Amino acid sequence: MGLKTKAEYIESLRGMKPTVYMFGEKIESVVDNPRLRAGIEATGATYELAETEEYRPLIVTESPLIHEPVNRYTLPPSSIADLVARVKINRLMGTRVGTCFQRCTGLDCLSALSIVTYDIDAKHSTPYFKRFIEFLKHVQKNDLTCNAGVTDVKGDRSLAPHEQEDKDMYVRVVERNADGIVVRGAKAHQTGSLSSHEIIVLPTRALRKGDEDYALAFAIPNDTPGLIHVVGRSSLDTRQLDGCDLGNLHYSKYCPTVIFKDVFVPWERVFMCGEVEFAVEMVNRFSAYHRQSHGGCKSGKIDCMVGAALTMMDYNGTEKAGHLKQKAIEMVHRAETLYGCSLAASYEGKKEPSGTYFIDTVLANASKIHEGKEMSEAGRLLVDIAGGFVADLPSDRDLAIPEVGELLKKYLKGVASVPVEDRVKMYRLIEKLVMESADTISDIHGGGSPEAHRITILRESNLKAKKDAAKRLAGIESK
Ligand SMILES: Cc1cc2nc3c(=O)[nH]c(=O)nc-3n(C[C@H](O)[C@H](O)[C@H](O)COP(=O)(O)OP(=O)(O)OC[C@H]3O[C@@H](n4cnc5c(N)ncnc54)[C@H](O)[C@@H]3O)c2cc1C
Repeated sequence: MGLKTKAEYIESLRGMKPTVYMFGEKIESVVDNPRLRAGIEATGATYELAETEEYRPLIVTESPLIHEPVNRYTLPPSSIADLVARVKINRLMGTRVGTCFQRCTGLDCLSALSIVTYDIDAKHSTPYFKRFIEFLKHVQKNDLTCNAGVTDVKGDRSLAPHEQEDKDMYVRVVERNADGIVVRGAKAHQTGSLSSHEIIVLPTRALRKGDEDYALAFAIPNDTPGLIHVVGRSSLDTRQLDGCDLGNLHYSKYCPTVIFKDVFVPWERVFMCGEVEFAVEMVNRFSAYHRQSHGGCKSGKIDCMVGAALTMMDYNGTEKAGHLKQKAIEMVHRAETLYGCSLAASYEGKKEPSGTYFIDTVLANASKIHEGKEMSEAGRLLVDIAGGFVADLPSDRDLAIPEVGELLKKYLKGVASVPVEDRVKMYRLIEKLVMESADTISDIHGGGSPEAHRITILRESNLKAKKDAAKRLAGIESK
């Protein structure tokens, strides 16, 4: 009980026995698999930094719920300061691991549930908020990591869940009994599901009459019977299994598809069941928080990209080239505008009836739209600065063999004073930063597709006030 050290976090995962498949094989020990371990290490950094004198004051705070020190990744925000701290810890972690650290999504689910369960109870006199608070106490007391089981596989996108030919395309209740519910379906792109103790399931879209069985929110351990995690491929995934040419030596990201094969969920872990009209609120709250989270972690990732760009300029002898300095500045300003938008979304936050603070959704979504375009622009600038070996650098294994290794070291050399091995390492890191699909594609689709961000901006912006402002200037009367 209490704050976990990184070692205790990893041991706690070792004690779990999830059903996992990867690349055609059943995985018995998640923490000992190098591919999965790189993801666990990234989440582990949220525990590791909380242990340090330097970062503990930012990451650890007292919970108003259990009145004990907790890691902020288990703390729904109850002030503007908490909202701001979310962005700061995400930037810190993004800079530290240079990829997704996979713990913000769980916090975003906890934050959304802390608002919406209260709102559902206010209308339906249901017991969801009380149940959620008990779950939250468990998460905080044990310093757990949760993942976000939001994205259903969705089948035919033009049809509502209940209209699908196969009724299991969105996670749904197939049985209700005195003890709980039985659920079936699958959630896609489950970042860090095996680095998480708990899987939190929320609906993925607005629902309407007829979709009652799909209006679900619940939380279960990642090794609950019937849960099957199938780890997805991503572009550089065999590097960890090879133990060679890693780029980022310690950290990576993986995203399983998680199948719910008639999984039992006890009532005390059910936080919404049938209240279709609240699905939209659940989705909107979660996505807005998650889009704000991205502004923190992705600006942190750009910090690493800028560092790699400047180092490569030193190694290549191009550090004085004016056009490359300009490109590095272009990268920095992208990081800062993302960060600024997410901070602004926090400072404009407001208290909800449950006591949780919610961010400004327009600013959070503006940040995410910006990220969708500008992260790839930052990557393009980094590749431009670094040079073509980002694409096709010979392997460390070739550098190690006598026949060709010395020749490669001769010809891969840049500036004379820089060891060739360092230049090779930096190229590998840049390859990982810009070409790891599990990480880079989340810049576009993570937290919903770019159109979802636009629709939110349209819906949440005060468009009438903008029209009125223009009309007043032009001398047209507003109606
Ligand atoms: C690397 C990565 C990590 C992720 N991590 C997580 C996670 O941890 N947890 C989680 O729950 N989710 C996660 N996601 C899922 C992410 O939220 C979804 O990918 C995103 O919401 C898009 O959904 P989709 O992939 O099913 O694409 P689709 O919904 O099929 O979208 C494809 C395109 O079609 C458009 N479209 C879809 N339906 C319609 C329609 N009815 N009308 C008009 N246009 C439509 C979309 O706007 C988009 O442009 C992750 C995704 C990625 C790529």
